[in-house]
Amino acid sequence: MNKLQILRSYFQTKKRMHWSRERIDRWQKRGIKRIIAHAKKCSPFYQALYRDENELQKLPLISKKEMMNSFQDFNVAGISKDEAIQAAMGGEKDGSYDSTVRGITVGLSSGTSGKRGIFLVSKKEAEIWCGNILAKTLTQSIFKKGKVALFLRANSNLYETASSFRYFNLDGDYEKVIAFNPEILVAPPSILRKLPRIHPKKIISVAEVLEPLDRKFLEKKFNQRIDQIYQCTEGFLGFTCEKGALHLNEDVLCIEKEYVDKATGRFLPIITDMFRTTQPMIRYKLDDVLIEGECNCNSSFMAIKCIEGRFSDVLYFKKKNGESALVFPREIGECFSSEYLVKQVKSDLVHLYGGCKKELVKCLAKKDIILPRIITFPKIPERRDDEKLRRVQRDYTID
Ligand SMILES: [Zn+2]
Repeated sequence: MNKLQILRSYFQTKKRMHWSRERIDRWQKRGIKRIIAHAKKCSPFYQALYRDENELQKLPLISKKEMMNSFQDFNVAGISKDEAIQAAMGGEKDGSYDSTVRGITVGLSSGTSGKRGIFLVSKKEAEIWCGNILAKTLTQSIFKKGKVALFLRANSNLYETASSFRYFNLDGDYEKVIAFNPEILVAPPSILRKLPRIHPKKIISVAEVLEPLDRKFLEKKFNQRIDQIYQCTEGFLGFTCEKGALHLNEDVLCIEKEYVDKATGRFLPIITDMFRTTQPMIRYKLDDVLIEGECNCNSSFMAIKCIEGRFSDVLYFKKKNGESALVFPREIGECFSSEYLVKQVKSDLVHLYGGCKKELVKCLAKKDIILPRIITFPKIPERRDDEKLRRVQRDYTID
């Protein structure tokens, strides 16, 4: 790793975090132009997809499905899906986490094998990413050696770019973090629940949605605020500012909104990453529902109230007048005071594990829908190790 490149990215990021809105807009305009030209030149997928349009809003949207289906043509290094999976799995298996193909780092997101996303980054992209994420999350100067504990399902040599990072397996031996005594603790909320009560300077939730119920529990348990890093296969998307609000990384990404419920400010982000050159992400629609928010800190980066969860998990019912109605995970989460799992298994059937049926009925009744049948189960089923915590799930496909 080139430490100078990381430092450069760190300081550039710090500077950009204080830019005005106009400055960010100008910066994005140039960055978008650059990445479109690069994709047209180097990615067979974009070459075939794009004609003469140069205006971002006129370019077609792409999704994970298209990216995965055309994987080899999509990336500019000509790496096939099989090559990438083999390298990433090999690195995970032998514990080296050195999963590279022709000098490009490969990473797999967690999830069931069919649904795992794959990311590809060059050395330079990894260094820029590293400087950027450090600038937005470190509590102290980069020159002071701090200890960061990372509890992640899938490690990657990407996370070991900084020497003070220590990776912990999710193997259940959570006590060992006490000896390490980290200053920053990074883990999914479901793991934070299981960790011993330590007192780092900062706790950051990653990889899973931080639900209101878990946030409340964890803030009480650790007696401090729980920050978030919004990071997925698609890149590093957002971070918590000093005031505690989530901001999207508009110095790296251009974000368009596709509203799913304008009245409540719910939208799906369409991202264009100005720095991802190996696997260019241009007008890539994410499956995450975000809710618009505000923050009075001095950052001009777009603030959001929260990451709500996957759009494919939003519950789908019929209203009495025949119209369809969406019920969002947060609307459900806000009605429960104890742990729960809500799973819609059919258009008119919901399974409720744990939680209280009365609370769920009250929440659904507010939405003016034809109430589904609710079957209750006292116990929440155990999750597999590689399964993310999702308290609201939709298990059937809408036709
Ligand atoms: Zn803020």
